Amino acid sequence: MKKGKKLYEGKAKIIYATQDKDLVIQYFKDDATAFNNQKKSTIEGKGVLNNRISEHILSNLSQIGIKNHLVKRLNMREQIIKLVEIIPIEFIVRNVATGSLTKRLGIEDGTVLKEPLIEYCLKDDNLGDPLIAEEHIYAFEWANKKEIEKIKKMILRINDFMIGMFRGIGIKLIDFKLEFGRIKSDGKDEIILADEISPDTCRLWDSVTDKKLDKDRFRKDLGDLIPAYTEVAKRLGILHEQSNVSAVNVTKLSSVKKKSK
Ligand code: UDP
Repeated sequence: MKKGKKLYEGKAKIIYATQDKDLVIQYFKDDATAFNNQKKSTIEGKGVLNNRISEHILSNLSQIGIKNHLVKRLNMREQIIKLVEIIPIEFIVRNVATGSLTKRLGIEDGTVLKEPLIEYCLKDDNLGDPLIAEEHIYAFEWANKKEIEKIKKMILRINDFMIGMFRGIGIKLIDFKLEFGRIKSDGKDEIILADEISPDTCRLWDSVTDKKLDKDRFRKDLGDLIPAYTEVAKRLGILHEQSNVSAVNVTKLSSVKKKSK
């Protein structure tokens, strides 16, 4: 598949056109941002790991009937995905209270929630992705009730599946962010899961030690982000007994190859 012109560049990914109007290429960058873009860095190898981890999770979700935008992974950093009309809402799913929830409501960090909690944030960097109520979604027609009901059902299935998948490899799924989009299917709008699911968008704690294996290592300056993401990939069985360094080396190799062309 030939890569066409750049359509969009976000904080961690770039979207390129292809010859097929319904498909685009998603490129995973090494850039890391936090706190609404106030903290920025480049962490070599992060994009490679997120590409692999997200591919793994989305293809497993596909197998349990959760339709999503992934078509196939192309290489270390790129995937072909379906072009969707993204719903401008970040759906935050929480199993354990931490992060912004604890700060906002004074809840003790680590409180296990009786039921998964779904929160909605408006996807708008200029406004700092503000928390909104479900009523705002209808008032401003960001999505309709039928779509939100469908999305909520999908979210609960995704959460159940992911909790189990991570539990099996000694990881607690604390919280995560999902995005959904619309595609036309037989002339009708259909809602599918979009964006990535990776340690950039999930909080993952080791089941025994509570060690953070996600982007909080960057947000909180804990260091060792690549070894943590590599650990997640290894436990998921998608990186074999390669060292952390190998993901980085492959990145270097691919950039050397490109330059020498
Ligand atoms: N999250 C994300 N992108 C965002 C905001 C949140 O992927 O723009 C994820 C984040 O990684 C965490 C969950 O959503 O797994 C809940 O985030 P929270 O609101 O606690 O974020 P904080 O403000 O603490 O970074």
